[in-house]
Amino acid sequence: MKIDGLEVAIAGAGIGGLSLATMLARRGAKVVVYDQMEAPQPIGSGFVLQPTGLAILKAMDLFDAIAARGQVITRMHGALAGGSSGQGKTVLEISYPGDGHGIAVQRVALFDLLLCAAISAGVRFETNARTTGVIEGGRPALLLDGGRATPSADLVVDAMGANSPIGHDPAKELNYGALWATVPWPEGGPFHPHELEQRYERASHMAGVLPVGTAREGAAPMATFFWSLRNRDIDAWRTAGREAWLERVNALWPQALPLAKVAEPIHARYRHHTRKPVTGRGVIRIGDAWHATSPQLGQGANMAMIDAASLASALSRAPSIDEAFALHLRQRGPHVWLYQTLSLVLTPFYQSDSRILPAMRDIAIGPTTRMPLVRQLVSRLVTGDFLSPIKRIGLSEL
Ligand SMILES: Cc1cc2nc3c(=O)[nH]c(=O)nc-3n(C[C@H](O)[C@H](O)[C@H](O)COP(=O)(O)OP(=O)(O)OC[C@H]3O[C@@H](n4cnc5c(N)ncnc54)[C@H](O)[C@@H]3O)c2cc1C
Repeated sequence: MKIDGLEVAIAGAGIGGLSLATMLARRGAKVVVYDQMEAPQPIGSGFVLQPTGLAILKAMDLFDAIAARGQVITRMHGALAGGSSGQGKTVLEISYPGDGHGIAVQRVALFDLLLCAAISAGVRFETNARTTGVIEGGRPALLLDGGRATPSADLVVDAMGANSPIGHDPAKELNYGALWATVPWPEGGPFHPHELEQRYERASHMAGVLPVGTAREGAAPMATFFWSLRNRDIDAWRTAGREAWLERVNALWPQALPLAKVAEPIHARYRHHTRKPVTGRGVIRIGDAWHATSPQLGQGANMAMIDAASLASALSRAPSIDEAFALHLRQRGPHVWLYQTLSLVLTPFYQSDSRILPAMRDIAIGPTTRMPLVRQLVSRLVTGDFLSPIKRIGLSEL
């Protein structure tokens, strides 16, 4: 169908919303993005752009810019806590197939890039615009805080992330979240500049260090430090104070103590849900608003971009919005289902109160992920490439 002149209202200026807005505006759509923030801004620390997400950025001509800021990641390694040496038995070993790699970025780096691309493409933004619902009808619209409705549009997109108020169900919160902080990268060690490194003690304690490159040209390289925390322990963690936390970090992973010392951590809660993607005529969810999960498999940001690319390409190939939705769901449905299921199954091995699951992990996962066939499967899983989600969508249509 003709994208030129299509009127699109997107709720949420996050990774999915900005990607979709840019793709459609570049093809002539009139796109307005509504966000609750005073000014569009990213929340959170850093993550790995997998080959799937990188393929979308390449198709958007943004790959070189993100590669210049990010940090190449070739290996993900997890070990049990090991006292003063800081490393016990390896229980997670993942390398990218061939010369493949991910690129770890600060969230702000990707956000700035997507925001600039959206503005250059002519996307309009309305900030301080908290969406509370969708008005359905012949042509749908968004309902904003205070009861104001946006102008009706041909297409309305819920890209409001895991906490989208539309169909929000508080029961879907997972028991464990994490503290996240962006800290200066310790030049000269002890961490490897191209590896995500994690330490575990059962599934109740986990910490990680990820090199995430620079926020902008000339800025200092940074790392993301994360510390798993049960939601119901947040108050106790605050009451116990910083020194008690630093002692805990030192006990689990002494090498990470200097990072924790300078961290100003923010607590993130995780949710798991797979909501109905199409909620009415001309109304669709993408990204975490559709499928949120814990970041254990590290796919969420990548999947939000794949959703955006799939929807944009389906809109330009199908004769109507209804048929574009159907095509988009055929392209995305199986991949979303698979990763949501795997994430739900695997998360408790790394974040839960279970003693049996981490014991199984410690005995089985380390050795099996070193077996050639399993290693290949796990690599494909982590690169986000199971079921070839990129091949299913026509990137040339972007
Ligand atoms: C701590 C943490 C670590 C993560 N690590 C990784 C990782 O390593 N790899 C990975 O791929 N993914 C990771 N993720 C997941 C990833 O961040 C998300 O999957 C991704 O950001 C989803 O993109 P989105 O566009 O759907 O939503 P978001 O990027 O969350 O954007 C949602 C936008 O909607 C806006 N909004 C929300 N409510 C309203 C409202 N009512 N009205 C108007 N606007 C609203 C928000 O202000 C925001 O701008 C992590 C997530 C968290 C929380």
